[in-house]
Amino acid sequence: MRVSVDAAGNLRGIYSGESVSGERLLIGSHLDTVPNAGPYDGVLGVALGIALMEALDGQRFTYEIEIVGFSEESGQRFGVPFLGSRAWVGRIDETLLESKDSSDISLREAISQYGLDPSNLHDAVVTPDTFAFLEYHIERGPVLESLHKPLGVVEAIVGRSRFTVEFIGEPSNSGTTPMHLRRDALSGAAEWIGMVEQEAKSVNGLFATVEKVEVFPGATGVIPSNVTMSVDMRHPSDKTLNGTIARLLEKARHVAQKRRLRFDVHRNLDHQAVAMHPGLVHIAERALRLAGCPSSRLVSGYGHDAMIMAEKIPSALIFVRSPDGLSQHPGMQISPADVELAISSGLHFLKEITGFSRKTTVSAYA
Ligand SMILES: [Zn+2]
Repeated sequence: MRVSVDAAGNLRGIYSGESVSGERLLIGSHLDTVPNAGPYDGVLGVALGIALMEALDGQRFTYEIEIVGFSEESGQRFGVPFLGSRAWVGRIDETLLESKDSSDISLREAISQYGLDPSNLHDAVVTPDTFAFLEYHIERGPVLESLHKPLGVVEAIVGRSRFTVEFIGEPSNSGTTPMHLRRDALSGAAEWIGMVEQEAKSVNGLFATVEKVEVFPGATGVIPSNVTMSVDMRHPSDKTLNGTIARLLEKARHVAQKRRLRFDVHRNLDHQAVAMHPGLVHIAERALRLAGCPSSRLVSGYGHDAMIMAEKIPSALIFVRSPDGLSQHPGMQISPADVELAISSGLHFLKEITGFSRKTTVSAYA
């Protein structure tokens, strides 16, 4: 393979096609990981790409194949994730280049210190002849394990909203304030937290979590006057997610009104859901079946490089089972049999994608 490192620190290797068609399939994932997390997060997808090229044993296709190890996916240093894949879709701007790490070193300086030239970042941008991206990634969760399936095809990466909810009552004495005269913010919050869980269980595919609760004044003998909660909600459909959030906030207002509390909400983050390319989902499923692997479609509750790449090129994401469903855990393992199936499915994917028309993808993404 012809190996290079681009200006964003992405490690790239090109496996030539049988002729110079100019068309290129991209396969890869990220090389970095979260401190103290699993050894397979990201790098499994890069190693699988290289293993696939090895398994080809010299066989060539009409298109060339590029294997990529994306740099800085987890956003540990600059607080912004997906730096490597952002460079591919041309989303590293001046503001991002000026963002600083904890030692006050900017991203621009870090790239230079690594021996690369940040003014060459545009060279990393994906070219129109790249017709698809395939990412293998260890599942960061227990779904495949619970289904007893080694591999799964991701249909969509969930949309995500984070917001802060506050109930405001009045501090008063726990021993002297009769129940009907209280404005207990914590009791109101508790009632609403129950509703969040109920709603999450009743809407298919919804994840809703009250992650942090702060109670004031938090003193013995005092009825709580303020409760601040951070809430995380995710769903593969933005419409369902926004509808559910609106419904839950309405219920919160109702709880507050009934209990004579004030209620406040602050939206902190809104990420839209990203669908993987339906044509590639179909090909990936077929490749899994041909490899003798029962296919299973799933949704990713977490962002991956494929989510960024999907902005510019048709993308597919295949999860490999994480035994015991471990995620962000140093004890994360992988089954050699699952890896063998992943390689075998990848070989089928390379054959099946030959018919995937570049024309349709170019017009869809132009
Ligand atoms: Zn990852």
